[in-house]
Amino acid sequence: MNEINWEAGAAWMKGELIPVSQASVPVTDWGLTHSDITYDVVHVWDGKFFRLDDYLLRFENSLRKCRLSVEQSRQDMRHILHQIVARSGLRYAYVSFVASRGQPLVAGCRDPRECANHFYAWCVPFVWVFTEDVIERGVRLHVDEQVRRIEQHAVDPTAKNYHWGDFTRALFAAKDAGFDNTLLLDERGNLTEGPGFNIFIIQDGIVYTPRSGVLEGITRQVAMEICAANGVTVQVTDVSLDQALQADELFATTTGGGIIPVTRINNHVFSNDAPGEITSRLRDSYWQLHNDPAMSEAVCY
Ligand code: PLP
Repeated sequence: MNEINWEAGAAWMKGELIPVSQASVPVTDWGLTHSDITYDVVHVWDGKFFRLDDYLLRFENSLRKCRLSVEQSRQDMRHILHQIVARSGLRYAYVSFVASRGQPLVAGCRDPRECANHFYAWCVPFVWVFTEDVIERGVRLHVDEQVRRIEQHAVDPTAKNYHWGDFTRALFAAKDAGFDNTLLLDERGNLTEGPGFNIFIIQDGIVYTPRSGVLEGITRQVAMEICAANGVTVQVTDVSLDQALQADELFATTTGGGIIPVTRINNHVFSNDAPGEITSRLRDSYWQLHNDPAMSEAVCY
């Protein structure tokens, strides 16, 4: 018998703690067949969950927006997340918790009210949305005007979801063109977000981030709090591609890596092709906040 490698990750499904490699959902689960699922991702850094309550609150809001209902209370979910990370022993982890519509109670039924909604959670070693060398040099983003972000009145981007059709098409275009990642515009030509991150621009010392068509990222929120604490004005507003191309600096925000310098969009180069000064300060502050006991909760290993 092979030894279980818990450090590869652990999952909680139907009351059991199992290795992540053994966690799976049935092929008839609507989470799989219809992307009828919501989820959230919090990180563990140096053995502590960062801002766990913010993530749990966003998840509860997503459940409500998607009309999903699971047995677990917020306390139950918190306990499960602690259990999986403790079981894995990981001190730096990517921790995903999910609610799926589940399987129809009567086979073949097509009424979303008649499905067995269920909760599960899993963790793996910390996932960087951008590799560390790309973060150091600055991210190069591709904007493909032919692939727009799905309309927010069709799929609500504020309920974290698996509808990645637009992102995946745009990611292929970005990778084919030699870029690190993609950033999608909405139908009006305003910036929205990328697969797994929000976007900010800085112009004349003022920070701007798109107001609509985006997930309200927890890291976006933390970045805005850091700006406020440092007297930097933030405006949550429409940001056109043209405005972005005039920016002094750009950065992305994500649980998978924090505040990330962006140095190129298509053939436009920002801040001398290196991480911008304000961005670098915000990034340092973000990591310093991880030492603030008010922001973190130690995993019960
Ligand atoms: N936008 C999308 C579509 C995402 O999936 C994510 C996170 O995965 C983000 C933005 C960033 O949100 P957060 O800072 O909460 O990780």
